[in-house]
Amino acid sequence: MSDTPAYGFDTLQIHAGARPDPATGARQTPIYQTTAYVFRDADHAAALFNLQEVGYIYSRLTNPTVAVLQERIATLEGGVGAVCCSSGHAAQIMALFPLMAPGRNVVASNRLYGGTITQFSQTIKRFGWSAKFVDFDDPAAIAAAIDGDTRAIFCETIANPGGVVTDLDAVAAVADKAGLPLIVDNTTATPYLCRPIEHGATLVVHSTTKYMTGNGTVTGGCIVDSGKFNWSASDKFPSLSAPEPAYHGLKFHETFGPLAYTFHGIAIGLRDLGMTMNPQGAHYTLMGIETLSLRMQRHVENAVKVAKWLENDPRIDFVTYAGLPSSKWNGTAKRITPKGAGALFTFAVKGGYEACVKLVNSLEIFSHVANLGDTRSLIIHSASTTHRQLSPEQQVAAGAAPNVVRVSIGIEDADDLIRDLDQALTKATA
Ligand SMILES: *Cc1c(COP(=O)(O)O)cnc(C)c1O
Repeated sequence: MSDTPAYGFDTLQIHAGARPDPATGARQTPIYQTTAYVFRDADHAAALFNLQEVGYIYSRLTNPTVAVLQERIATLEGGVGAVCCSSGHAAQIMALFPLMAPGRNVVASNRLYGGTITQFSQTIKRFGWSAKFVDFDDPAAIAAAIDGDTRAIFCETIANPGGVVTDLDAVAAVADKAGLPLIVDNTTATPYLCRPIEHGATLVVHSTTKYMTGNGTVTGGCIVDSGKFNWSASDKFPSLSAPEPAYHGLKFHETFGPLAYTFHGIAIGLRDLGMTMNPQGAHYTLMGIETLSLRMQRHVENAVKVAKWLENDPRIDFVTYAGLPSSKWNGTAKRITPKGAGALFTFAVKGGYEACVKLVNSLEIFSHVANLGDTRSLIIHSASTTHRQLSPEQQVAAGAAPNVVRVSIGIEDADDLIRDLDQALTKATA
């Protein structure tokens, strides 16, 4: 169904990539719980191993259930292909892997998911890679940070935890001018609220753990390729443009054209890094994705109601929700996420750290968890949890100061959420 772009989002989120099972007619996508696949004969096996024929070899690389999810996400994002993997963090490593080498760097936004800041500022150093963090509201700062060793630009559509919307068009213009791929983490927006490829992104990464699955059951990740980047325009991306010794000198870009990055992600990335999504996990995400648009509409509707109520409450110092007219990012949100600025935002409680801790402890409907994008409303005090590894300066830059809590607004009744916040704020600020 991916050749029929005339279908609308609601149709594609249910049908893209799936067809009745050819063996049984099963209407729902079966969970192909198998490790390996029988070859027709020795020639067939050799062709598969040489990448001369596309097919199933071993589930570390490809699996039919996972393949349906890959095609569905690629279609919803408007990409040519996608590779699913075991988590959002795996997706980030997998996305960078074909582009980077020891000594190379990625220029990244300083407003990112806390775990991503840790992954980029600490862990990737073990590979000899590094990240430079800059303010992505300032295109000149991004341009100034790019040097001869830069191989990618990285940001989030709606930056967690601050709920800040990135001007993807402006960032893509900088990446384009430098001849570099732009990687956008679209986890918190989902393709329903924003399709980064339409704003110039080369690659889109997801933690499918969040809204894509939507019910808090499995971790997963995905990398979507726009198919638009010319990997052979410079000598900066030899993994994609130069002969690959592990495949008898095959050149991915020359051989697979716009699908080069996707094929590399499977044939090298999954084969050798092994960060594979399992078919059960893919099944849960396929179940969730069928209702993505319906959930996102309600998430946004509730987030607007709750944010407005909080903004007018005297116990609150400020609310950072780009969906509010008072937000500095409201204009950007109208262009980048016209259907709504997501359902993730922070607010500052008068009374600081202590009041935030009491608030979190007093809520009844909101769950205190390190997650977002669940049907349930969630809250977390970032400074004492997800962002506690960061320095105080990094916490403030990431929108996770000690007086701030982050909420992920669920799809319950908005009035119930507001009543719950009201009673807990009374206890927190007593
Ligand atoms: C959760 C999250 C990640 C990491 O994803 P995991 O599935 O937890 O590995 C990355 N980016 C964003 C924006 C996230 O919310």
